[in-house]
Amino acid sequence: MRAVVFERYGEPAEVRGVADPEPAEHGVVVRVEATGLCRSDWHGWQGHDPDIALPHVPGHELAGVVEAVGARVTSWRPGDRVTVPFVCACGGCEACAAGDQQVCERQTQPGFTHWGSFAQYVALDHADVNLVAVPEEMSFATAASLGCRFATAFRAVVQQGRMAAGEWVAVHGCGGVGLSAVMIAAASGARVVAVDVSPAALDLARKFGAAECVDASRTQNTAEAIRDLTGGGAHLSLDALGSPATCAASVGGLRRRGRHVQVGLLPSPDGTTPVPMARAIALELELLGSHGMAAHTYPPMLELVRAGVLRPDLLVTSTISLEAAPAALAAMGTAPGAGVTVIEPWS
Ligand SMILES: [Zn+2]
Ligand SMILES: [Zn+2]
Repeated sequence: MRAVVFERYGEPAEVRGVADPEPAEHGVVVRVEATGLCRSDWHGWQGHDPDIALPHVPGHELAGVVEAVGARVTSWRPGDRVTVPFVCACGGCEACAAGDQQVCERQTQPGFTHWGSFAQYVALDHADVNLVAVPEEMSFATAASLGCRFATAFRAVVQQGRMAAGEWVAVHGCGGVGLSAVMIAAASGARVVAVDVSPAALDLARKFGAAECVDASRTQNTAEAIRDLTGGGAHLSLDALGSPATCAASVGGLRRRGRHVQVGLLPSPDGTTPVPMARAIALELELLGSHGMAAHTYPPMLELVRAGVLRPDLLVTSTISLEAAPAALAAMGTAPGAGVTVIEPWS
């Protein structure tokens, strides 16, 4: 099969022929029809993820058709249209038993713990626990976003963030996950403040329902601007980018007893990020993490997509071939385009 491979962190990836994957006993191989290009792929390529072994094939946000099935898989067969949360759970640990597959103790992640979906085929573990059926009427490009960014945003806003209609929700960073969060919060009745440094990203945020936009490149104090716009601060705020500055601005823009949800990865040399904890104490803030979404909690989200309330299809702004993927991966660090880019490995 053809795949995007990199041999060294930060050096150009290339498209070349590699061996087709085989399914594990409990796993499947999926023919990849669409796979999203996510900022986490860029972090992996930069060497920020200790799970990655070289050489490596990135890609964790995918949809496609089951090609081959392991001997112990009971729920899936070749030809099934599927997507998968990027956190593939084991199904047997304490977290899985509690229904929290998104923080499984023995999780695997395509594109991180093993070769991913920037390829014509990808192997996925524990298929009976992790696969999600994609309805006939949903395109693969749309379904791909459900594997990482859209589902991650849904969990952050709805499950972890416990958003209620009428609340002010601030979203820092309007890339794929941030724009998804804007759409989900606005469609659920929140008043959304979108923050980004890119006017094009803010234009999309407005299109997806943001009531207010803050251009952080032209604002001295983003947290203060949010407090002013929201009459004292957001009820719920997401750092959807992942940087010390956006994390601090998110916490700083909350009102009393507000909830901050950290969604964007926070790479730093020593593995820690400063957080304004004094403000967390004084205002009784909640600081939460959010990590993907368990496959068994997808149905309410899929129902909102089916009903047209949520439109992940509108987030896909560009579709590219596998050959164009290495350059697009490199550009994620410096000049990510507005919206979601999807790779079609068979195009
Ligand atoms: Zn991702
Ligand atoms: Zn588990």
